[in-house]
Amino acid sequence: MIGGVCTQTGTIPSKTLREAVLYLTGYAMRGLYGESYRVKQDITVQDLLARTHFVIGREEEVIRAQLQRNRVDLYSGAGRFLDEHTVEVLGEQLGERSDGRVFRGEHQTITAERIVIATGTRPARPSQVEFDDHRVVDSDGILAMERIPSSMVVVGAGVIGIEYASMFAALGTRVTVVERRPTMLDFCDAEVVESLKFHLRDLAVTFRFGEEVAGVAVSDRGTITTLASGKKIPAETVMYSAGRQGVTDELGVARAGLEADARGRLKVDEHFRTAVPHIYAVGDVIGFPALAATSMEQGRQAAYHAFGEQVHSAAGITPFGIYTFPEVSYCGATEAELTEAAIPYEVGISRYRELARGQIVGDDYGMLKLLVSPESHALLGVHVFGTSATELVHVGQAIMGCGGTVDYLVDAVLNYPTLSEAYKVAALDATNKIRALEQFA
Ligand SMILES: Cc1cc2nc3c(=O)[nH]c(=O)nc-3n(C[C@H](O)[C@H](O)[C@H](O)COP(=O)(O)OP(=O)(O)OC[C@H]3O[C@@H](n4cnc5c(N)ncnc54)[C@H](O)[C@@H]3O)c2cc1C
Repeated sequence: MIGGVCTQTGTIPSKTLREAVLYLTGYAMRGLYGESYRVKQDITVQDLLARTHFVIGREEEVIRAQLQRNRVDLYSGAGRFLDEHTVEVLGEQLGERSDGRVFRGEHQTITAERIVIATGTRPARPSQVEFDDHRVVDSDGILAMERIPSSMVVVGAGVIGIEYASMFAALGTRVTVVERRPTMLDFCDAEVVESLKFHLRDLAVTFRFGEEVAGVAVSDRGTITTLASGKKIPAETVMYSAGRQGVTDELGVARAGLEADARGRLKVDEHFRTAVPHIYAVGDVIGFPALAATSMEQGRQAAYHAFGEQVHSAAGITPFGIYTFPEVSYCGATEAELTEAAIPYEVGISRYRELARGQIVGDDYGMLKLLVSPESHALLGVHVFGTSATELVHVGQAIMGCGGTVDYLVDAVLNYPTLSEAYKVAALDATNKIRALEQFA
């Protein structure tokens, strides 16, 4: 799979689908034209997937061309270690599984001084659930769906589950989210998560927190999901999003002197070296944060280290983007983390409905929140909810990365009318609160 999960089954397909849903459902414009506004009335799977296949195809071409341009040889097939310097590539798709099954096929043997493992993850499939890639699917199976279901159960309120729940809810599917824990997206700002839940409920999403799936029964007419509490939820489709498993079982890592954990992940040091120093591992196969951007950066860091080049990392301030409806993004600390660490902060808030650009684009729910140190005026965290959140967050990230303060935003002149103006409004809000404090000093 050229481009991996990112290009073929994960990031790019899901974000292209989302863009198609946003456009065709008219979701982003409903604030202006009313809740019943639609660009297309009967949206089909073909409408959504046509755009997705087009983008995947183009991305694949770009990656192939870049590999060629940089003189990178590409072997298609499943690689597995023969020893710590040798990888055998089987011409067929699969290699050797942990159960000892070996696949036939053409094979090549490649030796190398240094090796980087970037084999990623696949969706974890609980053993008690029978996936049929039709009624009971995971995030890979969603891309092969034949029609938009009228109802859906999403098991797991992690990032992938909630992104797909948003998309289907906007398409008019009645979505029920079942999550074992009492809350969701705990790593994000609590106020933002509350707003997100409110908006998803408004799209007719039902949340079942603190509930466990006991079983899923499938028939010609659909599925019945039974919860441990005895509740039964009928739905056309069930989508499991219950975590991901590192793809190391076919790799024969033991022959290279390595051991994966129970979730198939490899341990690395700060230079992304495994226990065998000339073998590096990067990306989802090493676990958190398991994002496309961090995976790419880890690969760059590993390559620099492998060849003794100096490399600088700004990974301390990594942005997180969640492409829900509305979207969420943040970098730096949350209020909960600062409170836990007893670090004082002041909050500056700007609401999109008070920005001219917010009115123009019809976003009256968005907000930007700055967490600011009252002593040094440094930005400690930036949290954005609403239109273009995943783009806007980078302004705050750049200021934080360069050691800037909220004072810069107070003094800066920003284009008008823009959503970026939210930074100035939030900065003024935080500064006013800090000034009020200083009057008592
Ligand atoms: C539905 C979904 C949505 C996502 N959305 C986002 C998002 O919006 N933003 C974001 O930053 N991240 C997102 N991610 C995460 C992102 O896709 C991953 O972080 C990224 O793809 C990890 O890159 P990687 O190179 O580590 O692994 P992968 O992209 O998983 O690539 C690994 C590749 O190695 C191949 N491989 C595995 N074993 C072998 C073997 N033995 N021999 C040969 N090849 C092998 C696999 O086939 C695959 O092509 C999403 C993921 C999913 C599933």
